[in-house]
Amino acid sequence: MRRLLALAFLVVIASVALWLPRRDHSVSAQSRQAPAGTAHSGKAFKFNKVSEGVYHAVGTGSLAVVGNSSFIVNDDDVIVVDDHVSPAAAWVLLEEIKEVTNKPVTTVINTHFHFDHAHGNQIFDNRVNIIGHEFTRQMLLGNSIGMPLYRNYVTGLPGQIDDLKKRLASESDATTQASLERQITAAQNNLASQRELKPTPPNVTLTDRMTLYRGSREIQIRYLGRGHTAGDVVVFLPREKVVMTGDFLTAALSNMSDSFPDEWVKSLDNLKTLDFETVLPGHGEAFTDKAKIGYFQDYMRDVWTEVSRLKQQGVSAEDAAKRADLTKHSAHLPINGPGVPLLGVQRIYTLLDERARR
Ligand SMILES: [Zn+2]
Repeated sequence: MRRLLALAFLVVIASVALWLPRRDHSVSAQSRQAPAGTAHSGKAFKFNKVSEGVYHAVGTGSLAVVGNSSFIVNDDDVIVVDDHVSPAAAWVLLEEIKEVTNKPVTTVINTHFHFDHAHGNQIFDNRVNIIGHEFTRQMLLGNSIGMPLYRNYVTGLPGQIDDLKKRLASESDATTQASLERQITAAQNNLASQRELKPTPPNVTLTDRMTLYRGSREIQIRYLGRGHTAGDVVVFLPREKVVMTGDFLTAALSNMSDSFPDEWVKSLDNLKTLDFETVLPGHGEAFTDKAKIGYFQDYMRDVWTEVSRLKQQGVSAEDAAKRADLTKHSAHLPINGPGVPLLGVQRIYTLLDERARR
C-alpha cells in the first residue's frame, strides 16, 4: 500500500511538472512562424565584434538587409539596435545571432523610423521591449510607409528585378551571371517580405534619454536634437566607448528626405560631446575617425546654403538637384560630380517654404 501511494505521488509530481509552463528562451523573442522571403545561401550577415559582447552586423548581400544593425550580448539577454528592411531580414538576423549566443533577445532599439532600420519590428513577440523616440512611434503608427523614401523604394523594386533579369539575359561571363542571379533572388525575397509588412511601432518611448543597466554594462539611449529625422536616437556605451548612430551619422552620406539639415549640424555638435572611440553606423563599416563628423557637418552646411541660393534664383527642385555643386567635399565623401539627391532638395525647399510662411 505504501509503495502504491509513493507511486501515485510520483505520477502526480510528474504530471504537474509536465503541466508547468516551460520557458523556451530560444524562441521567446521571435514569433513562431518564419516570414516569407528568408531563403538565402551562406551567411546573410558579417558580425564584427568591436568590444566584449558588442557586435556590428553588416549584410553580405545574400539577403536584402539594407541598413546595419548592432547587438549587445549581456549577462542574461541580448539587445538589438535596429532590425533592417523587412520581417525576413530581422528573422534571419535572430537566426544568426543564435550561432553567437543562446540568450534571448529581450529588447530592440530603433534609432529612427526609416524602413531600413525598423521594418523588422513585427517579428518580435509582445514580451520584447521595442524602444524608440516618441516621434518614431508616431511615424510607425501613422504614415511612415506613405513617405517618399519608402514609397520610392518599394515601388522601385519590381523594376529593379526586371533590370537585373535583362542584364542577366545579355551577360556571358559566368561569375557576373552568378552575381546577378544572387541579386535577383535577394530582391525577389525582399519583395515577398515587403508584401507581409505590418509597420510596428516601439512599445516603449523616450523623448530625451533613457538608460538600461545590465550587470556592469550601461546602455544609454540619447536624443541629441533634430537631424536625420525629428526623432533619431543614438545608443552610447560609455564603458566600451562605442556609439551606435543609425543614420544620424553614417560612414559616408546620409539621406535627407525627412531631415532638418541646418539643425542636424548643431545636433552633431552634441554627438561630439560624448566620450566614444568607435562609431557603429547604420550604413557602412565601423570607424574610429571622429573627423568624419566635421566632414559631414561641412557638407550639410554647404548643401543648405547652395540649395537655398538656387531656390532664391527661382530654380526648380529638379534642376537644383542636378546643379547643386558639392564637389569640393569629394576628398572626404563619395561625391563624383555635381548633384544632390532630389528627395533631399525637395525637403529643403519644403522647409524653406514653411519658414517663409511663418
Ligand atoms: Zn534613415
